[in-house]
Order: sequence, then C-alpha cells, then structure tokens
Amino acid sequence: MTGTAQTATLTDEELRELAERAGRELEDASALDILKWATETFGPRFCVTSSMEDAVVAHLASRVLPGVDVVFLDTGYHFEETIGTRDAVDAVMDVNVITLTPRRSVAEQDAEHGPRLHDRDPDLCCALRKVKPLEEGLTGYTAWATGLRRDESPTRANTPVVGWDGRRRKVKVSPIARWTQDDVDAYVAEHGVLTNPLLMDGYASVGCAPCTRRVLEGEDARAGRWAGRGKTECGLHG
Ligand code: SF4
Repeated sequence: MTGTAQTATLTDEELRELAERAGRELEDASALDILKWATETFGPRFCVTSSMEDAVVAHLASRVLPGVDVVFLDTGYHFEETIGTRDAVDAVMDVNVITLTPRRSVAEQDAEHGPRLHDRDPDLCCALRKVKPLEEGLTGYTAWATGLRRDESPTRANTPVVGWDGRRRKVKVSPIARWTQDDVDAYVAEHGVLTNPLLMDGYASVGCAPCTRRVLEGEDARAGRWAGRGKTECGLHG
C-alpha cells in the first residue's frame, strides 16, 4: 500500500500507473473499501465532488474520513433545491463543504457573451461555469471522487472505480461506479442520506435549471440533461 507521504512525490506517470493498478485491483471492492484506499493513499489531497443531487458519496467518504472536503460547483444556474441540499449537507454532515464559483457571475457572462449562452453554446457555457472552475478548484488535490455510475448512461458504462484523469492529471475515484439505482436508493434509505427534493419530483439527474428537465417513462437517468441539444456530458468527465 502506498501511503500519503509517498504519493505526494509521485510523477504523473507514476500516479497514472498507481490509478490504473488500483482500478484493476479494486474492481470488485466495496465503495467503502475503495474510499478507504483513496483516503489512506492521498490523505488531505483527496476530495469528493458533489452536484448535490444526493449526498451518497459524501456520506460514504465521511465514514472513512470524517471532515472530508466535499467540493460543490455553484454555476449560478442551480435550482434553489440544489443550493438548499448543499446547505443542509454542510449543516448536518461531518464534511467540509467547499463551494467553487466561476470567475464571472451570470450577469457578467451575459454582458460578455449575450444572454442565455446555455441555449446557444452550451459547451462554452459549461466550459466557463463548470470545467474551468473545477480545474482551478482541484489544483490542491491529487485525487478526486465522483458519483459516476455505469448504469446512468451509455457514455458512463465503462467508468473505472479508480482511473487516471489525464486532462486534469489527477486520480479519479468513482466508488459507486458498479452501483445501480436500487443500490443508491437502498443506501439512502438505510442511512437517511440527504437527497435533492427534485428527485421526488420527476427529475432523475439534477444539473443546472436551464439545462435539466424531468425524465419520461423508460428514459435513462441522464435523458433530462441538455435534452434536444445533442449534448450528454458537461465536459467534467470527458
Ligand atoms: Fe451552462 Fe447549462 Fe452547462 Fe449549466 S449545464 S454550465 S447552464 S450549459
């Protein structure tokens, strides 16, 4: 097992090898064991990112590392319910919520690019309000955890439980990659985990308000994101 002190000095190539080896070795491990490995290996240079759709991964991580950093991207376009979920997580869970914001407010972006950039060029809007702020916010970390699951959409079907995020040059941990929606629901019920109220209101995946709609019967969980715009991911996980 590689300890925190040793990983702090590893090169990108060594970190990539470490991540890919862990991905193979931990493929069948539980979410808690995957997070245990990540927190033991990276210590304070590990964080969880959360869209505040639910607090499942934050809850799991807080069980192995109380006070773990939970990074939330406030794009300025979130539903009130999402901000409320972030505030509730901050208030009741043993985690350290860190809110990242884009360099420009929505009003400043409107002034520079025109209003409703999300309708005209969602890739640019996501780049400015999600991808860039996350890149900057993750600078101090070597590894980050996500709530990606293979069953969410075809684009996520091959998500490794631990992999190398080449764009950000970080180890990317997806402890619930093998979970199904039923697994998530069971964990939420068993542990009373906070979830976004919109999940009870027809939304299966919660993103920015202008780019999220309720899903229809039989659609996959992410079908309500950028519906009709030929876009399925914001660029955070590309
Ligand atoms: Fe902009 Fe929509 Fe992306 Fe949010 S999801 S950053 S509103 S394009």
